[in-house]
Amino acid sequence: MTLHDATQRFLFEDTPIRGELTQLETTLNDVFSKHNYPDTIKSLLGQFMAAAAMLSDTIKFEGTLSLQVRGAGQVRTIMAECRDNSAIRAIAQYNDDFDEQGELLGHGQMAITIEPKKGQRYQGVVPINDSELSLAAVLEDYFQQSEQIRTRIWLFSNQHQSAGLMIQAMPSSASESSLSSDADLETWERVIHLASTTSEEEILSLEPDVMLNRLFHEETVRVFEPRSLKFECTCSKEKTANAVRTLGEDEALDIVREMGHIDLDCQFCREKYAFSAEDVVELFKEPGDSTLN
Ligand SMILES: [Zn+2]
Repeated sequence: MTLHDATQRFLFEDTPIRGELTQLETTLNDVFSKHNYPDTIKSLLGQFMAAAAMLSDTIKFEGTLSLQVRGAGQVRTIMAECRDNSAIRAIAQYNDDFDEQGELLGHGQMAITIEPKKGQRYQGVVPINDSELSLAAVLEDYFQQSEQIRTRIWLFSNQHQSAGLMIQAMPSSASESSLSSDADLETWERVIHLASTTSEEEILSLEPDVMLNRLFHEETVRVFEPRSLKFECTCSKEKTANAVRTLGEDEALDIVREMGHIDLDCQFCREKYAFSAEDVVELFKEPGDSTLN
């Protein structure tokens, strides 16, 4: 079966416990088709994409959520972002002499950045000190340390599909901790036990409702409308023009004189943007000039 690229929110009726199930296939293939990634990087990127979509849907906001690691291992940078809970893009940069056996990320930092369309940008940073990096464990740690939200996350991926499952206990009010009753705590432990039986084979092949029913058939689960996910880049000629502006006028004109034009590729989608000599001259005019034309 081909997975539908979507994320599905659900909750356990009459408890403060909610969950999210995310599955991706076409999105991964679209991202991977632009690059020639080694298999281990494909798996890791797949998990980053599932995690970004999953977190984005639990936060419910308009804007962009990104997960980015700057590592000291084979992978120098890896990032995935989800915009408006639906559009995903991702990229990894790694050493030229990439070694599948080597430490992937080494010691580094993961930044979780939330850029709402309206309001303040937020960034949380979590250290990564584990050579056996588990992205799920890093994110669980982040929710526990920074947000005090009890969270369990499972991530799965192969070279062409990925999936994530998250279970979270929401505080019932700001002053009260989550799982304040014995009954809620019991439900939490039971649900976590059931969720941890998820197998890669199941989550990368079953429809979301079948998957949830298989895991939690004795619980009362309310599922919400799934949200579709897809690969989409945010690059544009205008944004690329800003990159040309950062070169400075002299250098930009030097390149044009030498090459005839400036070519810039989007790192994410490989879209090519070309700037002619006239384009470059236009870019460096004072902002008010264009209104004189
Ligand atoms: Zn692009």
